[in-house]
Amino acid sequence: MPLSRIGKADRPSHSGDVSSPREEAIYQNSFMDRAIALSKTALSTPGTEPFGAVVVKDGVIVGEGLNQSLKAFDPTSHGETEAIRDACRKLECVDLSGCELYSSCEPCAMCVATMEIAGIAKLYYAASMKDAGNVLGSLPKAKRHPIDAERLLAQCGLPAQERDMPSEQQMQEPAVAILEEWATALRGA
Ligand SMILES: [Zn+2]
Repeated sequence: MPLSRIGKADRPSHSGDVSSPREEAIYQNSFMDRAIALSKTALSTPGTEPFGAVVVKDGVIVGEGLNQSLKAFDPTSHGETEAIRDACRKLECVDLSGCELYSSCEPCAMCVATMEIAGIAKLYYAASMKDAGNVLGSLPKAKRHPIDAERLLAQCGLPAQERDMPSEQQMQEPAVAILEEWATALRGA
């Protein structure tokens, strides 16, 4: 996917250091336009879903993403995770501190977790989770890979032993020993 750049020259002109709320809104809309345009590509791309996102750093789009979970055989391929992966690969880093993320739809808990891990500073979203549920909720399961966003949010916030998914701790000692060895090597490096 080509990197779409909105350079400083394309920004609304500022009269001073602080832009007016209207100028800032136009500036932000250009990024949301791109996120929504990405989502629209799903209309003609089989195996994708209309959820698009962009990561913006210092006024430039540095990552773009579209939900390609069915096409890529990747249940974690949401617009936001793809945009973050794209930005991290392009910037060759795993820290997107100070970056903003624009998404065509309010992100699910997995994407929020990914944004937290990457250090995204601010989220802008277009459609709400409720909008998506209203429109897509009645689609047959075989047509897409639906997620239950409310359940995901609730389950992810619980400690391991309280989730519906059973979890069992095994072989703690050798696993911790490797963590210790790795940490020791890093300290010495
Ligand atoms: Zn998501």
